[in-house]
Amino acid sequence: MVDTGELSDVAVAQRAGLGFIGLNGLLITPEFGSYVYLGEIITNIPFEPDVPMSNQCGSCTRCIDYCPPSALMGDGRLNAKRCLSYQTQTKGFMPEEYRPKIRSVIYGCDICQQVCPFNKGKDFHFHPDMEPDPESVMPELQPLLTIGNKEFKVKFGHLAGSWRGKKPLQRNAIIALANVKDRSAVPQLLQLIDTDPRPVIRGTAAWAIAQLTRDVTPELITFMQQAEAQEIDPEAQGEFQNALLKLNEQLSEN
Ligand code: SF4
Ligand code: SF4
Repeated sequence: MVDTGELSDVAVAQRAGLGFIGLNGLLITPEFGSYVYLGEIITNIPFEPDVPMSNQCGSCTRCIDYCPPSALMGDGRLNAKRCLSYQTQTKGFMPEEYRPKIRSVIYGCDICQQVCPFNKGKDFHFHPDMEPDPESVMPELQPLLTIGNKEFKVKFGHLAGSWRGKKPLQRNAIIALANVKDRSAVPQLLQLIDTDPRPVIRGTAAWAIAQLTRDVTPELITFMQQAEAQEIDPEAQGEFQNALLKLNEQLSEN
C-alpha cells in the first residue's frame, strides 16, 4: 500500500522503528528526516519486532509556531480541516480565513517540514524520476485560469496535484494572484466572472477583484452589481455581495 490504505502508516512506521513521530505528525527518520515516502507490505513472515523510536523534538516547537493556520495541535495531532494541504484540495469555496494564508502556493503545504531541524541539510535528490519539473510544479498562474481539459491533462495529469481535476487549482490560482497583488490579472478575472460556468470560479474571482482593485470606478461597481443580480448560486452570490461591500467602501474613500 502506498498513500492510501488500511494502515495508519506513520504509526506503523514508528512502531517498526523507522523513525519517531514529530510534533508535526510526520515520521522523522534519522537518515532522511521527514522526506520519505511510506509504503507497506502485509505479510505473515515472522520478523523479529524492531524497537519503536520515541519522540525527539525536545523543546522545539518550530512546526507549531510556523504553521500558518495553526493546524497542529501541539501533541503530534493535526486538525486536518485547518491544514492548507487539505484546504488547497477541496472543490468548493475556500473559507476566507485560509485564502491569504496559502500565499502563492496552489497545491499542498510543506512548511512544517521545511522548518524542522531534522530536515536541515538532508539530501533527498536520489532519483531523477522524482525530480520536479519547475514548469509543472510552479506554473504561471494566469494561463492556468483558462486552460482546457486536454491541455491540463497533458501538462499536469502525471502530477499528484492534478488528482482532483483543474477546478481546485484554478480556484487557488485566482486566490494566489490576489495574494501576490498581480493587478495585470484583473481583465482575465472580470472575463471569468462574465463567462465561466462554475460558481466557485466566478465567486472566487469576485473576491479577488475586491482584493486587487485600487481605483474603484462606478463602471466596475455596475459590472459587479449586474453579475451579482445574474448569479444563481447562493454561495457565489455571497462572494459578490462581500466584494461589492469592499469596493463601495473604497469608492466612498476615494
Ligand atoms: S502542511 Fe502547512 S498547514 Fe498543514 S500542518 Fe503543516 S504547516 Fe500547517
Ligand atoms: S519542527 Fe521541531 S517540534 Fe516540529 S517535528 Fe521538527 S523537531 Fe519536532
